[in-house]
Amino acid sequence: MPVDLPGLLSPRPHLLLTPGPTPLHPRAQEALGRELLGHMDPEVFALNREIQQDLRAMYGAAPGTFTALLAGTGSLGMEAGFANLVEPGDEVLVCVNGAFGARMAEMAARYGARVRQVAAPHGEAIRPEDVAAQLGGVSLVALVHGETSTGVLNPLGQIAKLVRESGALLTVDAVTTAGMEPFHMAEWGIDYVYTGAQKCLSAPPGVAPVAISDRALARQAARRTPTPLWYCDFSGLRDYWERQAYHHTVPVHLHYALHAALRAALEEGLPARRARVAALGRALLSALAPLGFTPYVPDPAARLPTVLALRLPPGLDDAATRQALRAREISITGGLGPTAGLIWRLGLMGEAARPAPYRRLLHELEDLLA
Ligand code: PLP
Repeated sequence: MPVDLPGLLSPRPHLLLTPGPTPLHPRAQEALGRELLGHMDPEVFALNREIQQDLRAMYGAAPGTFTALLAGTGSLGMEAGFANLVEPGDEVLVCVNGAFGARMAEMAARYGARVRQVAAPHGEAIRPEDVAAQLGGVSLVALVHGETSTGVLNPLGQIAKLVRESGALLTVDAVTTAGMEPFHMAEWGIDYVYTGAQKCLSAPPGVAPVAISDRALARQAARRTPTPLWYCDFSGLRDYWERQAYHHTVPVHLHYALHAALRAALEEGLPARRARVAALGRALLSALAPLGFTPYVPDPAARLPTVLALRLPPGLDDAATRQALRAREISITGGLGPTAGLIWRLGLMGEAARPAPYRRLLHELEDLLA
């Protein structure tokens, strides 16, 4: 029996309003139809150079900062940071206020780090003073900028300043922020940052855009032991991205699509994108309040603009309602771990952050809950 793929066989376009993947940008969709070239072809190297330049702009990186795409999702971006920057026995401080901070702690431990954690309750931001209290002897700090599992925005600028003063390196998960929120890698002193193509950029999943500071490259070059993850060894990545030497076969179509989507994001401008998300978030909160939905994150300053976490109205059947929406070709996401059954998470990243899809969600929800 053929699989009923949304948008191909069903009459209504399927709406992806989840915290990723987001609907493809039309220019990314178009790029996927181009002719395949080889990963060593001059046109692909020229495209890669443009991607590197555009990634510097997206991350607010200093000129010449090494940027690249890893051939994997956001989790590979996370893993590559620890694989290259941690050696067995290193003291690593991980900020944990949700599932993705916990994933970072798990990965750091697997690469041999002695992991210390700074925690905050779910729904609350990491407190910079708690980070400051734990920085002694730490060689690397890891922080999730936007914690997708709870819809919390952590105070990256303040934490980065403290880490910089301590001399430790800082690795940042910008999976739900980069490409939507202005990001200042150079100004904040960030050493390693990654995202996933399928989030704020609305490109297909499968590549992780990263930026790596000179300090981080020097730390990796001075390792006592080789980077245990051969696939993402920083020096191997530089062989391909800087020296145009073969390392592995990159997914050329995902490069085309990422290039197109990233260009579109920069043409719109990051401040304009942030304003677009903020306006939609405000409108959604007021439209959903009469249906009984309330913000999960109490402090407005700690709310992640790109993932709206909503406490469910009392009595609403979480699974049944989301299933009914799915039958109407709308995907939204519930909570994760401790927030399962308690919240919904609406993705306001990239092409999801448009009024038209959300009008359709509101219309269907009002109908279902009437
Ligand atoms: N970090 C954050 C903050 C995320 O939201 C996600 C995915 O949702 C990841 C990491 C992992 O990314 P991926 O699922 O692309 O591997």
